[in-house]
Amino acid sequence: MAFTNTELEAWKQKHPLLEKIMALKPVYWQNPNLITENEFHELPLTTQDIEEAEQLWQRFAPFLVKAFPETKEANGIIESPLKKISTMQQKLNETEDSQIPGDFYLKCDNELPIAGSIKARGGVYEVLHYAESLAIKEGLLNPGESYKVFASDRFKSFFQNYSIGVGSTGNLGLSIGIISAKLGFQVSVYMSADAKQWKKNLLREKGAQVHEFAGDFSEAITTGRQQTTDNPNGYFVDDEDSKHLFLGYSVAALRLKKQLEEKDIQVDKDHPLFVYLPCGVGGSPGGITFGLKQVFGDHVHCFFVEPTHSPSVLIGLLTGEFEKVSVQDFGIDNLTAADGLAVGRPSRFSTSVSNKLISGIYTVEDNSLYKLLAMLGDTEDIYLEPSATAGLLGPKEVLQSDYLKKHGLLAENASHIAWATGGSLVPEDDMKTFYEEGKKLLE
Ligand SMILES: *Cc1c(COP(=O)(O)O)cnc(C)c1O
Repeated sequence: MAFTNTELEAWKQKHPLLEKIMALKPVYWQNPNLITENEFHELPLTTQDIEEAEQLWQRFAPFLVKAFPETKEANGIIESPLKKISTMQQKLNETEDSQIPGDFYLKCDNELPIAGSIKARGGVYEVLHYAESLAIKEGLLNPGESYKVFASDRFKSFFQNYSIGVGSTGNLGLSIGIISAKLGFQVSVYMSADAKQWKKNLLREKGAQVHEFAGDFSEAITTGRQQTTDNPNGYFVDDEDSKHLFLGYSVAALRLKKQLEEKDIQVDKDHPLFVYLPCGVGGSPGGITFGLKQVFGDHVHCFFVEPTHSPSVLIGLLTGEFEKVSVQDFGIDNLTAADGLAVGRPSRFSTSVSNKLISGIYTVEDNSLYKLLAMLGDTEDIYLEPSATAGLLGPKEVLQSDYLKKHGLLAENASHIAWATGGSLVPEDDMKTFYEEGKKLLE
């Protein structure tokens, strides 16, 4: 429901930054509600919840090795490398007129197996969690049995009696579709008609049903939820309010801790860690932030990034209205090339947690995403989808603000991680078009 002009004026009076946000200008916002580790007991989840989620991943590792041979090398653990990107850092220093002291890394979730995006964490986790609970409820699992049996015909024909639905125009649909079909579930992905053809083709090829909706994407979600839950054996993956997705994402923090230790990267009072996370509904960046805060406490500083045309979590947090307001309510169109971030309304559960844990949010224009995509390709030979490049401007945004000074931090000792959220499933031709767009803009 859009606000009247009078109401919008009142909002702008109350939060002057809205003027720029509504004019679609890039902005930088610091979160006044950030809590410190002494107050973490206020949070609805704990470290133990993350550890239990990690144990579920461990139980399913033998299944994943069997069902997805590309996970064999990592023993069925779905994880991505952490890469130092010094050449990109140099290039940013030259062209962006910024100086980034400290070290700059890329967390390469674009390389995650199964889904080629960050959704391989949350989406796969939620489906595995559901499959396990069904198997336990029906007494299919013998105590101590290897989860390899989830790849057996016996399990597959059992899961055929159950259906899973999800509304998604992109990567979440791919991840839920692929893992659900592999386990034997009937899976339906509800998409808007303008979803990319290659995604629909890939999903159908993997055995998912694709339902297309001509109207607004929210219609796809509403119908998808309805049709899925009309079936007593139906389960709807709710991106707008899912604790399971959130926990699946949070496990990344335990893995990152290990990777940082292996690379001798210190994180403590004198060596702050900055993490920049592209944000759609806020589930993946929220889950990862929650995990990182549990692991590193006040020494990690997490920032979300949204497109100027889809600043849904920013508006939700800034106004304090959370999921009750959408960008459309503020006259913003939610049209962006960053399709993984094109979300008009934030997730309920994760936004209430992020409200206390994130340091801030900045927004970027689509043209910047294309430019970063081409620069990263040229400097590091890494090719991301447009959404996934958004974190690369993080160091510049934070370093030119008063954040470090306010928190008494030294820029020289900092490590920065841009979370690269997807890209490896994008067809070569599409990627070439993205890259050329970026090259043109850089000229
Ligand atoms: C889904 C997605 C995100 C954001 O995740 P949310 O949970 O929607 O906030 C970021 N980047 C890519 C590539 C994605 O697919």
